[in-house]
Amino acid sequence: MIQRSLKLPGGHAVDYTLKVSPNRRTIGLRIDANGLTVHIPKRISQQTVDSLLRDKSDWIARKLGEWQERAQPLEWMDGARLQYLGNEITLTLRQDDRNRALEFDGSRLHVAQPDPEDLKAVQRKVAKWYAAQARSDFTRRIELLSAKLGVPTPPVFLSNARTRWGSCNSRGEIRLHWRLIQAAPHIIHYVVAHELAHLKEMNHSPKFWAWVEKLCPDYQKSREQLKAISHQLHLM
Ligand SMILES: [Zn+2]
Repeated sequence: MIQRSLKLPGGHAVDYTLKVSPNRRTIGLRIDANGLTVHIPKRISQQTVDSLLRDKSDWIARKLGEWQERAQPLEWMDGARLQYLGNEITLTLRQDDRNRALEFDGSRLHVAQPDPEDLKAVQRKVAKWYAAQARSDFTRRIELLSAKLGVPTPPVFLSNARTRWGSCNSRGEIRLHWRLIQAAPHIIHYVVAHELAHLKEMNHSPKFWAWVEKLCPDYQKSREQLKAISHQLHLM
């Protein structure tokens, strides 16, 4: 599976996933919550793929637009459902004379502030709380898995990148998206394992995947699941 991007005649770029299917004879396009996936036969040039995508660019843009409209962004109101570590939790809003620190009781996240209708403030506070949970959760996992991999614990930073859940640069710094804390622990585990494995192999070769598997034997399942929920994780 390869991630690519193509500039369309209209000027904007479309990101897509390229999947080689040895049994195919033709190129197939699929658009769903995860965006555009292009299924191609084994021997086909990138040029052929690009020109087909350009021919179909109107259709692609329209279908992608339909999916974006269907996805409802989160409404920041009392009783709103949030995802946290793969579980659904409820947001509660309450008026209080003071701005209180957020409280989480395991199933509800309580926000109390002078103006509970100030939804921008609610959104800001909740995002900050999620980022704080993400930082401590990811740091702990990085410590555990880097020990298992036999490498020094790398520095971890939170990211807000639109297109990727994690990255590892040539300086060995790992970045993980704070929104990932919404996902179930085994999915976070996979992303951490993936980025740590890059400390051993800076590519996606079979050797690289062998390191991932060592840290996360079930990685293929988690990887598929992450792809399936990626779109949802961005709604918050
Ligand atoms: Zn990677």
